[in-house]
Amino acid sequence: MKVYIQAFENEKLTRSLFSLVQIFDAKATLSTDDWEICLIIQAKDEQYIGKLKKRMDGQDFTFVLPIRRNIPWTSNALNFQVRQLVYQLFCQAGFKKQPWGILTGIRPTKLVHKMQTLGMSQNEIFNVLQDEYFIHEDKVLLLQKIASMQRKRFPEWSEQNNRASVYIGIPFCPTKCAYCTFPAYQIPKNEQQVEQFLSALIEEIRQIGPFLPALTTVYIGGGTPTSLTVQQMQRLFYAIASYFPLEYVEEFTVEAGRPDTITEEKLRLFHTCGVTRISINPQSFHQDTLEAIGRLHQVEEIYQVYDLARKMGMNNINMDMILGLPGENYTKLLYTMSEVLRLSPESITVHTLALKRASQITQNRSAYQWNAGDEIEKMMESCRLQLENHGYLPYYLYRQKQMCGNLENIGYCKPGFESLYNILMMEELQTIVGFGCGASSKWVDRWTGKITQDHNPKDPKTLIENTEHYIEKKKERLKQIFVK
Ligand code: SF4
Repeated sequence: MKVYIQAFENEKLTRSLFSLVQIFDAKATLSTDDWEICLIIQAKDEQYIGKLKKRMDGQDFTFVLPIRRNIPWTSNALNFQVRQLVYQLFCQAGFKKQPWGILTGIRPTKLVHKMQTLGMSQNEIFNVLQDEYFIHEDKVLLLQKIASMQRKRFPEWSEQNNRASVYIGIPFCPTKCAYCTFPAYQIPKNEQQVEQFLSALIEEIRQIGPFLPALTTVYIGGGTPTSLTVQQMQRLFYAIASYFPLEYVEEFTVEAGRPDTITEEKLRLFHTCGVTRISINPQSFHQDTLEAIGRLHQVEEIYQVYDLARKMGMNNINMDMILGLPGENYTKLLYTMSEVLRLSPESITVHTLALKRASQITQNRSAYQWNAGDEIEKMMESCRLQLENHGYLPYYLYRQKQMCGNLENIGYCKPGFESLYNILMMEELQTIVGFGCGASSKWVDRWTGKITQDHNPKDPKTLIENTEHYIEKKKERLKQIFVK
């Protein structure tokens, strides 16, 4: 669908409206002459007036909203109202209502917390989300449930930013999954290259460690951190223990991820080094799917590694699964869900496939079989029901662009097993300092709450060549935020 947008000649607003249009049609493009849909937004006599014209059938629609100058839960009243206008126009024009209404951000729960901080009651929040953001009732209830779980876990909600958390990105994997756009390079056969990356990472840890405040959580992700050898992991853990202020750490996660990278020795190392939580991610329990998405391990290995982790004392395991993988339908999903539930990990993260532009799946769409289609919503709902029936509760949620069915990713856990890192990071409650490749540092100003971001490079070569630059930048930021 080619769309022409005219909105006060305001480029930022046009971009925002275009991102809204894309939830109705992910393949929409902006166009000036050969448009199929024309959108004109004007303001007149204290009203916003929106007009939508469809070239294919000549139909046109108009929607009018009275202008409100101040809307307490948003800092951009113009953008908010114009998005409302465009959403209503598209619904009038016959496009399908969207589960998340006009919301396109990745952290919808933040909005609930913001309204709570403004002193709004649960009823008021419910009404705003449903009537002003046009979010479906079940999603609104889900958001409120998650926000209240999170507040219970962190009763002193705004007091978390005196401490920080750490994210360490290991950019290697055994193979690249077809849907992946993370910095995940096939683990080099030449160990020298990995060693150089590790030395740069350890140098970051050594120099930044003394500038860190007490840490709440440490998270090693990637990539697949367990792509490293046990000796390399030992070096990394030794550096973490030597230079990071770990006295008050409440959670230490390693994303083990791919079953074909997990060994008894590595699990023993986790146990002795104080790792409290690991992730073993099946994504699917169907061999043909694993092969189709480029995960070169056997389904059987998932069971073996899971049993081994239990035997080695791991008592907080997360498992990730993805809805909408190529070749998968509702029946296949039910089987994966039942196998995950049979294993009974402490937490289960249900992802919806995101068709990111740079992924192999999107680049080479014709090579993959798609069955999921409209079943995605049914899959998500079925997961919710089964998980809740088995005692799991949703505790964090995020969205991405180009998600199948315009849905979401939801982390569920057994009571008391919420991942603190996931909540702190997703709700932006405290500074997260990123190390290694593809790691973002998110700086939360302790006094104003203002959030800024810096990014480490995605590829190891750039990090290796510019280690000192990234170290100095982080030192400066930490000095600014945690001046004693
Ligand atoms: S294991 Fe994870 S990080 Fe690695 S390629 Fe697959 S999706 Fe990407």
